[in-house]
Amino acid sequence: MARTRRAFFCGNWKLNGSIAESLALATDVRNGVSSVRDVDVAVAPSFTALHAVAKRLEDGPVMVAAQDCFWEEKGAFTGEVAPSQLADAGCKLVIVGHSERRQLFGELDAAVNLKARAALRAGLTPIICIGETLAERDAGETLGRIQAQLDGALADMTDAELERIVIAYEPVWAIGTGRNATPAQAQEVHHFIRSRLAMRAATLAPKLRILYGGSVKADNIRALMAEEDVDGGLVGGASLSAESFIRLVKEGSAS
Ligand code: PEP
Repeated sequence: MARTRRAFFCGNWKLNGSIAESLALATDVRNGVSSVRDVDVAVAPSFTALHAVAKRLEDGPVMVAAQDCFWEEKGAFTGEVAPSQLADAGCKLVIVGHSERRQLFGELDAAVNLKARAALRAGLTPIICIGETLAERDAGETLGRIQAQLDGALADMTDAELERIVIAYEPVWAIGTGRNATPAQAQEVHHFIRSRLAMRAATLAPKLRILYGGSVKADNIRALMAEEDVDGGLVGGASLSAESFIRLVKEGSAS
């Protein structure tokens, strides 16, 4: 069955790579995926490598994402980076609300909302991450947690803004653990997310892309992509090797 939404895979390189290493990885990824059709691909290097990587990739087809941003445009906010600065560096997207930001740096839904809206104002696509912990899943709170995170992140967004977002469902217990959600577990939550989105904007919800993240690899992406509401992947570990990420993009877009 033909996909109704274009597949999208984004590699999240986290805190890895010198500028030279990032350029080499980006170049290999670009060369490896440039012949793959009907797919969007992005990589998210560290801040220090963003500009160099964006320059290297400026002729496409691989886009550059930042891993985080602040919500203010300028001022006395030592250490922060504004979305317009990311756009200036060549980014097209920015990841917001990653569970590592939430868990290690205390980021709350209200901050994720401010970041996503600031990103939209700067012309960037926010990839908004949501996901439950293992304790929440075991306590039967998965969908309640997802609903709260989603509603918090999307508060006060207009339909025109909603149309430009990407959601990433990333169960915290599956990130970097080698333990991915089963396709059925992913589909249950993706379907729930899309139905919540439909309550906000019925005509937009079928068009919005919902990525799955959490130990995605070339070997498991096909089964995940076979689910109706899984539109791609946010990929950590498997994006740090060009060979494994290229294979994943090929497998995922072929399914
Ligand atoms: C991530 O960083 O968003 C992620 C899903 O990591 P991994 O693929 O390594 O689980």
